Amino acid sequence: MSKANPDGEGTECVREDCNSTMASNWYGKKGAKVCRACYGKLNQRRDSAAATTGSKRVSIESPIFEQPIVEPPLDAAAPIKKIVKIIGARLWDPSKALEPADLRVPLAEDEEELEYLIFGQFVRPDLKDSYGFLSTRWLTAEHLVEHIGLGLLQTAIKEWESGLAARRSAKLEELVEAAAAEREEVGEGRGAAAAAGSGGEEV
Ligand SMILES: [Zn+2]
Repeated sequence: MSKANPDGEGTECVREDCNSTMASNWYGKKGAKVCRACYGKLNQRRDSAAATTGSKRVSIESPIFEQPIVEPPLDAAAPIKKIVKIIGARLWDPSKALEPADLRVPLAEDEEELEYLIFGQFVRPDLKDSYGFLSTRWLTAEHLVEHIGLGLLQTAIKEWESGLAARRSAKLEELVEAAAAEREEVGEGRGAAAAAGSGGEEV
């Protein structure tokens, strides 16, 4: 959603060559407001700017795995019928970013959209009598309410959240134990080295 410059409707972004008077968010001091796009560009690292202009070619293996659209379009458009398992939740999809600058700004609250990663049963409207098929997708809370119903969605979310809390504390415990074991090993190593050292002196 676009907002007018808080310095006054019709007031332009203060960055040179930018005539924006509307933006999804505004940054900076009163009287010197910068639009979201320009703010993102200001925060862009200089080397990545160089990489995009091609003045310096850098090949980096991306650690991000984009979700490819592998399903046929009619399958991809099929609504959900049943949640089998909730896998995750997010407020924003970074693949919505059109340029690096979009990733360099804090997310504006009105850009947030709650989505759940769902493994579930999907049924194509043109094949209503069939069982449908199982798939894994990010779906908005609104889509889920519309097709699953608020009650079933709430139950599924509660189940997932308590399972997740248990998983998180189990993982944290595991990490704490691993760190403690590592400290012990380092300590033992030092002790052994000291013993070997003193042994050497005796000779
Ligand atoms: Zn601007």
